[in-house]
Amino acid sequence: MADMTKRPFTIAVSGKGGTGKTTVASLLIRSFIDAGERPVLAVDADPNANLNEALGVTVHETLGGMREEAFTRAIPPGMNRHQYVMYRFRQALVESDGFDLIAMGRPEGSGCYCFANDLLSECMQQLERDYRYIVIDSEAGMEHIARGTIGKPDLLLIVSDPGARGMRTVARIRDIAVSLGLDPEKIRVVINRYRSGMAPVETGSDHPFAVIPDDPAVEAADLAAEPVSKIPPDGSARVAIGKLAGKIMEMEKGC
Ligand code: ADP
Ligand code: MG
Repeated sequence: MADMTKRPFTIAVSGKGGTGKTTVASLLIRSFIDAGERPVLAVDADPNANLNEALGVTVHETLGGMREEAFTRAIPPGMNRHQYVMYRFRQALVESDGFDLIAMGRPEGSGCYCFANDLLSECMQQLERDYRYIVIDSEAGMEHIARGTIGKPDLLLIVSDPGARGMRTVARIRDIAVSLGLDPEKIRVVINRYRSGMAPVETGSDHPFAVIPDDPAVEAADLAAEPVSKIPPDGSARVAIGKLAGKIMEMEKGC
């Protein structure tokens, strides 16, 4: 039974497209659940949303889509807009074994949506209370954190491929995160798709928080359109991400 008096520990996974954010996020979620740290809230905050596929669940509605509707359509009789938004929010939440998932959808265009965003962040806060961990699959710009729809994470993992170019992107994402008010102490680098024989990982002043091997099982799941979270537990990527989850659990205890 989760300790309901404690707020959940929030991890945002960011990085350039294709570096492995969704893979790392979904295997982290799997690891927390396997370690008994459940329920986990999975938040897909990447407009190219596919965290649900990596976790093997179907999304019927995103918050972005819901927001458009909840503010343009007639509200059912007997409900105010606020209640209606809460109701739709609960519907958008996908419940699964050990985790729930919410997909943010596209960030809105121009125009003032402050009221909508306030309502959404309120929904998010009400929701968050039940979870041990929240894992956010976030695009590099971290738009939802910038808009306050998602609170500041306790830990930001920046995923990168090994190599100098990847490291420059890490530096840029770190700058964005710091400009959004994140504590630099809470930002860690995860090197993904490392192959033995590669030059040692050069992360400048950063010691990588985790190095995830390139694992054929991950690619095989992708090719077979199988959820990556269901790859066997003894595979190298899953083992490495399991260790990463262990480090995060240690961190969380220290909070
Ligand atoms: P992102 O979410 O950052 O766009 P994905 O997690 O979708 O990245 O990964 C991009 C591609 O790289 C996918 O085809 C995925 O299967 C592959 N991939 C990611 N991590 C690994 C890994 N450790 N080993 C092998 N393939 C990987
Ligand atoms: Mg992705």
